[in-house]
Amino acid sequence: MNASPEFRSEIAPQPEPSPAVAKFLARKPRLLIGGEWVESSSKTRIPVFDPATGKQIAEVPDANAEDVNRAVAAARKAFESGPWPDMLPAQREALLWRLADLIDRHAEELAELESLDNGKTKLMASMVDIPAASAQFRYMAGWATKIEGSTFQTSLPGPPGAKYHTYTVREPVGVVGQIVPWNFPLIMAATKLAPALAAGCTCVLKPAEQTPLSALRLGELIIEAGFPPGVVNILTGYGETTGAAIVAHPDVDKIAFTGSTEVGKIINKSASDTVKRVSLELGGKSPVIVLPDADLETVVGGAAQAIFFNSGQVCVAGSRLFAHRKVFDKVLEGVAGVAKSMKLGPGLHPETQMGPLVSREQQERVLGYIKSGREEGAAVVVGGDAPQHPGYFVRPTVLADVRRDMRVFREEIFGPVLVAQRFDDLDEVAAAANDTPYGLAASIWSNDLRAVHRLVPKIKAGTVWVNCHHMIDANMPFGGYKQSGFGRENGRTAIEMYTELKSVCIAI
Ligand code: ADP
Repeated sequence: MNASPEFRSEIAPQPEPSPAVAKFLARKPRLLIGGEWVESSSKTRIPVFDPATGKQIAEVPDANAEDVNRAVAAARKAFESGPWPDMLPAQREALLWRLADLIDRHAEELAELESLDNGKTKLMASMVDIPAASAQFRYMAGWATKIEGSTFQTSLPGPPGAKYHTYTVREPVGVVGQIVPWNFPLIMAATKLAPALAAGCTCVLKPAEQTPLSALRLGELIIEAGFPPGVVNILTGYGETTGAAIVAHPDVDKIAFTGSTEVGKIINKSASDTVKRVSLELGGKSPVIVLPDADLETVVGGAAQAIFFNSGQVCVAGSRLFAHRKVFDKVLEGVAGVAKSMKLGPGLHPETQMGPLVSREQQERVLGYIKSGREEGAAVVVGGDAPQHPGYFVRPTVLADVRRDMRVFREEIFGPVLVAQRFDDLDEVAAAANDTPYGLAASIWSNDLRAVHRLVPKIKAGTVWVNCHHMIDANMPFGGYKQSGFGRENGRTAIEMYTELKSVCIAI
């Protein structure tokens, strides 16, 4: 596709939103509590900005502790009484499936909304975010009818002839608080809600304050699908207030959180006061390891995509490149070439390949990291700055000559910034890859089976990809080692996180 002259000279203007999105934005967003859209008792609102222009596009309620009380009470009521606990698993399955169909029917609108709110391209949202969200609901729909316990024998002493019938049953954990970040707002909401609903829980969901819009639109679709009132409640608000109140609430049974390691630690501490079940999906600093035999064309495209996808705002972003000394220069040159060629622009513009970052704060944070890298002696191979524009753009950046003690090597940047290092042997690269408090994911690029199988067990990460990166499936457990969190979303393990295991022992 040829870039338009206007585009080549600077960032293109953001096209006008479609009538469907304009209509949604014109509805004054409210809180979803007990099946109704209600005002917050706080009366204050949170502005929502288009990251491509820096202009305000909406405002949402700033839920306070009283709103949290109301939402938790609605979720409790829906969990204990009314149609939800009496529903057959097949009925829950049908509801989840219907919601997936509604998401697909409104895919165009949701992709646009996600793009406007988060900054990502509408094309990417249409290809990744929206289908992954509906797939999550469809996949978990199937689990609703497949939750099972087991029967087993015991060796219990008793009077002669005593017999026991013993078995386990999985029951929904109860009211769950779900707190999600801004990088994949709809996917994150779906990944939290779908297994909880399949298991029979009720939910209080809090989207990130930066990106609340798609969750609110999802709330409308949840009502349209026919979920009983109170089964899903959605509160918009800030983390330190609304989020913290959900975590501390004594009537919430479980917290599922995705976000920064820093906030994960705060949440884990607070939740321990009431011994809540907690699952945490936190930060990462994922290595991309290129062995000397790898197919370099595949590696260059793959490594670039590993870091620049979603403007690098991905917990599994391949943010540390380790290439074998023999191929390092070629890989670095290739990835830098991709970075240089990427067209920055607003998400709704069809030629945009990389959108802005989510917020001014995030832009400043990422630019601050690049500055610290320079100051500590890293070489900027490409990028390293932001275009003159009111949107929150940062050019795709590659840093070389990095050392393991530099902040850019150690800390999660959450932006389009790659640090690159060379290595000589497998033990050395495994040690370097693991030299981080994180352990979320890693990718290895090689066709040497023996080397791959020797390296995979050495990598301390919840997911290891080989000759690919960013592959996340509803049926593949996902979560972290070390300070990347605990618990595994997706697959059977997600259902286990939303259920309690009850042992039953009957003397017969
Ligand atoms: P990021 O650094 O990616 O913005 P955060 O971890 O700050 O991620 O935020 C992820 C989610 O956690 C957001 O919904 C945010 O509002 C929420 N959050 C932030 N601080 C807290 C807190 N102290 N308690 C509960 N939720 C929080």
